Amino acid sequence: MQNIINVAYLVASILFIYGMKGLTHPRTAVRGNLTGATGMGLAMLAVLLDPGVEKYQWIIIGLLVGGSVGAVLAKRVEMTRMPELVALFNGFGGLASILVAGAAVYKPSIALPVGYTTAQYYQANIATAATGLIGGVTFFGSLVAFIKLAEIALGGSVRIPGKTVINALLVLGCIAFGVLLVMDPSNSLYYWGIVVLASILGVTLTVPIGGADMPVVIALLNSYSGLAAAATGFVLSNNVLIIAGSLVGASGLILTGIMCKAMNRSLTNVLFGAMAEGEIASADEVYAGKVKSTSADEISMLLDGVSRVVIVPGYGMAVAQAQHAVRDMANLLEAQGVEVEYAIHPVAGRMPGHMNVLLAEADVPYEKLLEMDQINPTLEQVDVAFVVGANDVVNPDARTNPDSPIAGMPIIDVDKCRTVVVIKRSLSPGFAGIPNPLFAMDNTLMFFADAKKAFQEISASIKENM
Ligand code: NDP
Repeated sequence: MQNIINVAYLVASILFIYGMKGLTHPRTAVRGNLTGATGMGLAMLAVLLDPGVEKYQWIIIGLLVGGSVGAVLAKRVEMTRMPELVALFNGFGGLASILVAGAAVYKPSIALPVGYTTAQYYQANIATAATGLIGGVTFFGSLVAFIKLAEIALGGSVRIPGKTVINALLVLGCIAFGVLLVMDPSNSLYYWGIVVLASILGVTLTVPIGGADMPVVIALLNSYSGLAAAATGFVLSNNVLIIAGSLVGASGLILTGIMCKAMNRSLTNVLFGAMAEGEIASADEVYAGKVKSTSADEISMLLDGVSRVVIVPGYGMAVAQAQHAVRDMANLLEAQGVEVEYAIHPVAGRMPGHMNVLLAEADVPYEKLLEMDQINPTLEQVDVAFVVGANDVVNPDARTNPDSPIAGMPIIDVDKCRTVVVIKRSLSPGFAGIPNPLFAMDNTLMFFADAKKAFQEISASIKENM
């Protein structure tokens, strides 16, 4: 039986790796997801076949409760709420690892099967301590990330006085409990001591991180949840858990690196420093007397005779579910020989790839989606740029104002286009909470409206003028 289980684990691991390969391109992503899910299904079956399983009822109850909650959440959650859901999933991964390693502490026969060598004995004990530490940070860090993203509380960057000293003490406390646990694994208090201190650490590490750094935090917590699972794999000597956890840990770290680059933040700075506290000009200073508003009819006249149009989508397009209306207007322009492209910022929206998913849903061809680095050098030749519910990712302050809290964050240089039409409902700020001088520039026109309604009106006006 053990051989069959090992082969099943191996096949499951291969399916995980193929699944991840599929996820590297939107065209193969759905297949990749299904491949990974098949691997997980197989791994679960193999676990159930394990002769070590004494009672099935708790496993079945767990499967039913967890499976139904997961299915309902995944079905019901709106696209704009996906990052919160991911934050929760990461957290539950950490919690599951804490509980499994915790159970092993109470049942040393799992952590210390007969025939363990001394090295294996210490390996299992160290892995238990590591699971408590990483799992605690992941669970509570993810809960804080969820609360921040869902805008329930703790908005922006919250200062914790003396946080460096507090964090250092918490880490030292975890190490001390860890050493005690390795020496005496039968004393469960040491394990729960690690979990409690790590949980506080998860809160103190995440609470000060605010605004535009949140995507990095989510990617990093995702990586932590994988590392916690891998550590649990060492506790249980379970190969598939080690492999799957390492894959999640490594891919989360790579994503963290990509996110850091997109936000121009170093990882140490994100982790141990609050977001740069720059001088924030008041909205009045930035906008007073300088903002020009426009209408659908004016925009359709503006579009008469243009040859190149770029659409820059942001979070507001997701809120308004405007992607189909945007595509309809693009189709009208393309029918008149206008070249229409989409400029995609890596952190536009509220999760990596958010805009790609929405535009794919509206059947916009992938080759029309251009990444920031690709499109930026060509923006001076663009006649009209539509900024659709995007704000921070087109804020020229990031490029021109070294005092701005988002200074250095790469942006789509839409201000360099001949004319910029910004579609949003008001002058209110985006996720980073700062005013955007783009809205007050000479070449910018503001169309204050819900993005979907705005594009429907523009299309209607274009049709009238045809
Ligand atoms: P922003 O959050 O900067 O701005 C979105 C804008 O959309 C708002 O100013 C809002 O203005 C407008 N809006 C909201 N609803 C509508 C609507 N129905 N119709 C039209 N406009 C609407 O979005 P960006 O995409 O530019 O930037 C993303 C931000 O989110 C960045 O700061 C990024 O760091 C952060 N982030 C990104 C993550 C990721 O992985 N992509 C994850 C977490 C955070 P108004 O209310 O006036 O309409």
